[in-house]
Formats: sequence, structure tokens, C-alpha cells
Amino acid sequence: MRDNYRIGSIFGIPLELHVSFLLLLLFFFMYSAFTLNPEPFIYIVMLFATVTLHELSHSLVARRYGIRISKITLLPFGGIASMDEMPKDPKKEFAIAIAGPGFNFIVGGLSLMVIAAFGGLGEISPFFELKIRGLMDLLVVFFKVNILLGIFNLFIPALPMDGGRVFRSLLAFKLGFPAATEIATGIAKLIAIFMALTGVLLPNLWLIFIAFFVYIGATQEGEVSRINLMLSGLKVKDLMSTQVVAVDSDITLEEFAEIMFEKRHMGYPVVSEGKLVGIITFSDLSRVPREEWSIKRVGDVMTKRLLTIGPEEEAFEAFMRMARAGVGRLLVVDEGRLVGIISKTDLLRTLEIMRLMRY
Ligand code: ZN
Repeated sequence: MRDNYRIGSIFGIPLELHVSFLLLLLFFFMYSAFTLNPEPFIYIVMLFATVTLHELSHSLVARRYGIRISKITLLPFGGIASMDEMPKDPKKEFAIAIAGPGFNFIVGGLSLMVIAAFGGLGEISPFFELKIRGLMDLLVVFFKVNILLGIFNLFIPALPMDGGRVFRSLLAFKLGFPAATEIATGIAKLIAIFMALTGVLLPNLWLIFIAFFVYIGATQEGEVSRINLMLSGLKVKDLMSTQVVAVDSDITLEEFAEIMFEKRHMGYPVVSEGKLVGIITFSDLSRVPREEWSIKRVGDVMTKRLLTIGPEEEAFEAFMRMARAGVGRLLVVDEGRLVGIISKTDLLRTLEIMRLMRY
């Protein structure tokens, strides 16, 4: 089962639904259908709409700063807007992080004013009782969902939740991003452990789920930050391998396997009539049954999507681009000419050596 399901796009940003949210929507739909009571389904749809708008607020502020959002993943308690780069300016990270909960509080406040104007303030308490008898109750539920989502996301200072991002950006004003991230991820992990233990004791499955999400997210955030720090100042041209062995798209896999055995690289650019047309890797070859190697050609199994990077770009950018695309290597192209190839192995080897030199 996949983790995320693409459901559409909004302002050109792909929107994905996390499997937990999908199951929740289905569950509430079935529940409503079987009990002939539409309320549970209305709640969950309202939560879905609110989370979407919350994430959109983050994305629009990020876009205003020129930071590209590659996708938005919706989770029942919030979402993740995957940015194409790490924020380098604490002011920007602060503004992007606060935009989501800020939107919830503004919308919540506006709903409250409308509720008050129509004399419905008495409907709000008790806070955790949700009843829908008319339009006013619908608005009251909308108010509560927004306030809860805003509070939950802003006031838990655990990366990668919004509160954690706000916390990190505030630290970064004083300490800079690398040190701020070390502290913020450490605290986030402690909070996650505390949440998980509370979840086990209560017991509350949601808390355990969120704890996992926070722990894994904080760990990744910390690792990426450390890699960013170690690779800083290094360019693609410093780490790429220039001994590029290109293969022709017309040769058979049998012939390709021989070249691979001789040269011992894991990935090769593919050319046809002198033009770059794709890339073929060891894993492309290993997917084809051995008996078909003599009939199939490199052009049949190569990856046609060309992921490239310039030699003057930062090594960390190469790392992020590979991680996002889920590939192991990028072709280094300078003014349309292939000048090298950079692989995750090249980057990891450099990191290993640098780690060794540091201690
Ligand atoms: Zn958020």
C-alpha cells in the first residue's frame, strides 16, 4: 500500500492525501451511511477542508518568498508542505510556519464574530460536544475545528510541526540554522517520546501515530541539516566524476553488461547519434531477465527522464534533487554539454571522509 494518494492540485501545487486521512474519510463515510447520521462525515469533511486551507496558507507565503513547494501532503492533524529547499532566512521560516495556524485563528475569529452576531455564543460550550441541528451548529463546529487545529499545530514546539518551525526560526535568529536545528530536533524527539508514552498509557492511538510522525520527521530534518552544513562551500564540479562513459542506445543489454563489468560504474548516460537521450543504471539492467539480454537494447530499458544539474551549483542542491526524485545520480550538464556525473555514492563518500577528518 502506498503512503500518499494524489487527489488533485491547487494553485499548481500537487495535493496528496496521506493514507491515514483516506482511511479516516472512508471510515466516517461508512459510519455515517450505516447509522444514517450524516454528522460524523460532515465533521471529517470539514476537517479535510480546514487542513487543506491551512496548508495552502503556508504554501502561498512560501511562494511569495520565491520558495517552490513541490507538493502538499494532507494528514488528519495538519499537513506537510514539502519545500524544494531549506529556508536560509529565519524571518522567512517564521512567516511561512506561522501562516497556517495564523489562518486558522483568523478564520476562527471571524466565525466567532458571525456566531456572536446571530446570538449563537451559547452553542459553543461544552467545547467538545459537537452537534449539528442547523446552519449555526455547522459554523460552531467550523470554529472549533479551526481553533483546535491552530492550537495543536502552533503550541507543540516539535519539528516538523509548525510550532517546532517557529521555535527553530526564533533560535536561528541568535544561533544560526545548524545549531538551532540541533537543539530543536533534540527537543522534538523528547516531546515525541513523551507523546508516545502518554499515548500508550491513555491509551490513544492518534497520539502514538503523531509521535512517530514527529520523531521520524525530526530525525530527517536533523540529518538534512547536518549534511547541508558539511557540504556547504562544495560545488557539484568538486565532487562529480568526469570520467563519463556513455553507451549507445542501440547496443544490446548483453554488450552493455560487458561494458559495465569492465568499467565498474553503476550508471551510464545513453547517447544516440551523438545526442544525450537517457540514462541506464545497474538496477535497470537487473530488472530484465537474463535470457532477454541478447534481444533487448539499451534504448528499450533506459530511463528517459533526464535529471541534470550544473557544475557550478551547490553539492547540497544535488543531494536534495536526488532525494526528491528518488534517484541515485544526476548528469552534470554545462551549456548543453555533458561534463560529468554525480552520484549519491560520491556525496556519501565525501561525507564519510569529512566525518573522519572532523573527529
Ligand atoms: Zn501547518
